[in-house]
Amino acid sequence: MSDQLSHIDKRTTANRLQESELRRTAVFIDGNWIEPPDGRTIDVVDCYTETAFAEGPTVSVDEVDRAVTAAATAGSGWAHTPRSVRASMLQRVRECLDERVDRIAEAWAREAGMPIAVGRRSTAGLAFAVLDEMIDILERPHVEERLDRTIVAQEPVGVVAAITPWNYPMSQIAIKTASALAAGCTVVAKPSEVAPLSAFLFADAVADADLPPGVFNLIAGEGHDVGQALASHPLVDAISFTGSTATGRHLMRTASDRIARVTLELGGKSAMVVLDEESLEAAVARTMSSCFMNNGQTCTALTRLVVPERLVDEAAGMAAAIANSQILGDPLDEATTMGPLVSATQRERVRHYIRHGIQEGAQLILGGADAPEGLNHGYFVAPTIFSHVATDMQIAQEEIFGPVLCVLGHSGSDHAVAIANGTRYGLAGSVWGTDASEALRVGRAIRAGTVSVNGGAFNPRAPYGGLRQSGLGRELGRWGMDEFTEPRAISVGD
Ligand code: NDP
Repeated sequence: MSDQLSHIDKRTTANRLQESELRRTAVFIDGNWIEPPDGRTIDVVDCYTETAFAEGPTVSVDEVDRAVTAAATAGSGWAHTPRSVRASMLQRVRECLDERVDRIAEAWAREAGMPIAVGRRSTAGLAFAVLDEMIDILERPHVEERLDRTIVAQEPVGVVAAITPWNYPMSQIAIKTASALAAGCTVVAKPSEVAPLSAFLFADAVADADLPPGVFNLIAGEGHDVGQALASHPLVDAISFTGSTATGRHLMRTASDRIARVTLELGGKSAMVVLDEESLEAAVARTMSSCFMNNGQTCTALTRLVVPERLVDEAAGMAAAIANSQILGDPLDEATTMGPLVSATQRERVRHYIRHGIQEGAQLILGGADAPEGLNHGYFVAPTIFSHVATDMQIAQEEIFGPVLCVLGHSGSDHAVAIANGTRYGLAGSVWGTDASEALRVGRAIRAGTVSVNGGAFNPRAPYGGLRQSGLGRELGRWGMDEFTEPRAISVGD
């Protein structure tokens, strides 16, 4: 431990994680921090030092039941809390979260590898944008819709189980919680046991904001055990899940037993389509920043660069130049642009895909399955570029979740669209072309929930979610809030 502290002491983080934030033994249930009776904890591993640096609790079925029961009990009171009061409580959560941005970024860097400088901006960006949007919606005048003599009552679904993964461990909980609470629902959140620390910091912020007991609860433990118990609890009305398509499919089956609602934010294999040579440079730069964001551990990452056939080599060369300029290293170092992957398992999974890509005959331009030079610890994967990738190769079809880009050639815009749409996923997509109306036509033809045309920025107020096996339902904006409501028709006689 002293070695790890001296490693941290060199860092410039202004506001550092406290010992009590590294040794978590209690979960947040019904407005109180509760120690599970058997006191079991799970080590959290620093993905740069490869050693345990923190611990998180794990609960039993009893605490899952207590948390869900607390949320169900708090449900009616919260649902009837005036919108303006809900808005001011979310505002308090925002303020309490703001105080913790540095510590959340530090936790994220150590538990999942996100470079701290990027993590700080990202933490302060999306989570706050969603909280602001929910507050704004709640503060706007609200008039219940009427159709002739029928009242359309938009009512909260009830208890929401928020099950989130390790890659964006705070913002995913913040998005689900802000939207569900705004809709009048209560929440039981379960973060990934691989990266629980930033989720606990979010729970600290909610605790400090002094919301009514039971409105927000945080439990912890492994997915197949605690997550499964939460998802199958009879008092959970909706499951809001982000993670792998395989677990999403499993949770949909779990929910089907009692016809509970599900929102699924799953994997992706998103494409950037380049229509002409003039667009190449800007499109490659955008692709690389997306593909390598969070070390490639981002579900919306643009991992396929689809360019006119004659430009494949040039595009791959440009991509390699950008990849070469990445600064790999300690994610706590402000200068680092690419950190390690979350775990040894994840590193091996990505390396397996790289080896398979080489066997399949894709041309390896940069990187590969060996450890990057000069880094003798940390779960690093070298930034890797494949060119002349065929659409049916495994590396062109499956979500790799590491810093790996595939460059593919197209023979025209329709072929490019067919390639972009030629996987089981449909989460994000992008297109770049000098003819703006053609670029928009292609953008509309890409079957994905979020599409960017000629560098259009991601809009956190717009609906976000996937088509096909990338998911079901929407997050963000009023669509994200509506996901947690149920419209009812109440017709009144003369
Ligand atoms: P999972 O889908 O397994 O995990 C996501 C969340 O679900 C975690 O909180 C996990 O808990 C929980 N969980 C797992 N099994 C169950 C279950 N039976 N019932 C209820 N909850 C459960 O993703 P992984 O972390 O294993 O990542 C595997 C792959 O998934 C990645 O390589 C990547 O391709 C993809 N992925 C995609 C993400 C996305 O945003 N689209 C995010 C993360 C992963 P716990 O972790 O504690 O076991």
